[in-house]
Amino acid sequence: MTAFKDLGLSPAIQQALDELGFVEPSPIQEEAIPELLAGHDVIGQAQTGTGKTAAFGLPLLQYLDPADPEVQAIVLTPTRELCIQVTQALRSYAEHLEVEVVAVFGGAPIRSQQSQLRSGAHVVVATVGRMMDLMSRHSLVLTSARFVVLDEADEMLDLGFIEDVEKILRMCPSGRQTALFSATMPPPIQKLAEGYMYDPTTIRITPKTLTVDAIQQAFIEVPAKDKAEKLVDVLKVEEPEQAIIFTRTKIGASKLEQTLKAKGLDVKALHGDMSQGSRDGVMIAFKDHRVRLLVATDIAARGLDIEHVTHVINYDVPNSSEVYVHRIGRTGRVGRTGRAITFVTPAQREEIGRIERDVKTSIGEWETPEERLEHAPRPRRRRERGEPSERQREREPAAAGDRAEGDDGPDRDRDAGGDRDGKAETVKLFVNRGERSGIDEEDLRWALREGAVLPDEAIHDVRVLHRFSFVEVDPAEAERTVEFLDGTKLKGKEIRLEVARS
Ligand code: AMP
Repeated sequence: MTAFKDLGLSPAIQQALDELGFVEPSPIQEEAIPELLAGHDVIGQAQTGTGKTAAFGLPLLQYLDPADPEVQAIVLTPTRELCIQVTQALRSYAEHLEVEVVAVFGGAPIRSQQSQLRSGAHVVVATVGRMMDLMSRHSLVLTSARFVVLDEADEMLDLGFIEDVEKILRMCPSGRQTALFSATMPPPIQKLAEGYMYDPTTIRITPKTLTVDAIQQAFIEVPAKDKAEKLVDVLKVEEPEQAIIFTRTKIGASKLEQTLKAKGLDVKALHGDMSQGSRDGVMIAFKDHRVRLLVATDIAARGLDIEHVTHVINYDVPNSSEVYVHRIGRTGRVGRTGRAITFVTPAQREEIGRIERDVKTSIGEWETPEERLEHAPRPRRRRERGEPSERQREREPAAAGDRAEGDDGPDRDRDAGGDRDGKAETVKLFVNRGERSGIDEEDLRWALREGAVLPDEAIHDVRVLHRFSFVEVDPAEAERTVEFLDGTKLKGKEIRLEVARS
């Protein structure tokens, strides 16, 4: 396992990472940081949520000379939201460096940005249009900008900024180092890289890294005319803590916002027809958890680092598998399980198969939690509820041995690392209680240790969601865990355990 300290970062940067609680570099960081520190150009095919900002941001900060007052590095971003987000991230990484990171973006007074630039900026993080504007006013000179980052290049292409990006690149010194990050690599972006980068190293973080395990995916087939009604039902059942609902068009987003509002739901829309000010307002409200549901178009939501989203709902099926991965990557961040639900009309049904093949994932038909429980295989022996609790204290021999006698025991969860030969590494158990019942990870671990008498090493994973939880245990302990805990009480609430369906 590589640690940040093995990557050659300066003590001041390392200190900031320690304070931020960054322990292990993410895959893109592990690969890109040494390359960039060695002075190479890098193409990073990765999206928000992979840690790409630090992947380019840390080498960029290390490259700067605080004593040189010129603009030494620039980061170009497609949207104001991403510009602000990158600036905040760089400032946090530069906590112990004497460097100024200035953000310039449209929709805000240019004068104050000019005055910030005059007071000194080592790094300028900019949207393309505003950078062009400031350059034409001679407020920004790029003759010393030897470290250039293009963040979300494909998005700049979609928004029609590529020509301006090329103009900006031509204003930077030819001996510069260039990093290009993009979720996808359409031909115009490849061409841009060929024309403006020197022998770049390509690092690709595959979509699979993002989706595997962390996100439970499902689809719902529904005729177009019933979609809104079905969405309301799904939201009622799923009770997302926070959800992003994706629509294909801006008009679709506002219409859906109105429909959901009319049903009394706490919802806001985010799309390109809104003024910059109202977009910012919505973003902040959503990030502060003051709004539960966000209806957004891909462009408006792209690049936003929104954490703790429990659900992503594709109200309109995404145009490509890459967009699918990009959208659902917003949930299930760093150790959390998220849910992604995709609506398709009967005519779009085969889109699901395509996504499954491209992303190498499995997307089952959506079920309510009750249906999921209903369909979960029953454990072979179920402890009678109300039975004396002494049983919980005696340690039985491993229950797995019992299964050999041809019982119709639970179907092991193949998701959780099992195989058809019964050599599962872990078994995933479904628990019918979650955060909503005031239960947290420690409570469940306590129940597993004290109630089911499991040693710590037999407990592999505990994930608490809003309405329910999952625990992964050694296969040999699974049945006993169910027997000992199912029907008992935790924090005053009856808990039910089942072997989770794959
Ligand atoms: P990004 O993909 O750059 O938008 O980063 C996504 C989120 O992951 C941000 O909230 C970062 O602060 C966080 N993050 C990035 N790298 C790490 C790391 N190595 N360890 C923990 N969190 C990280």
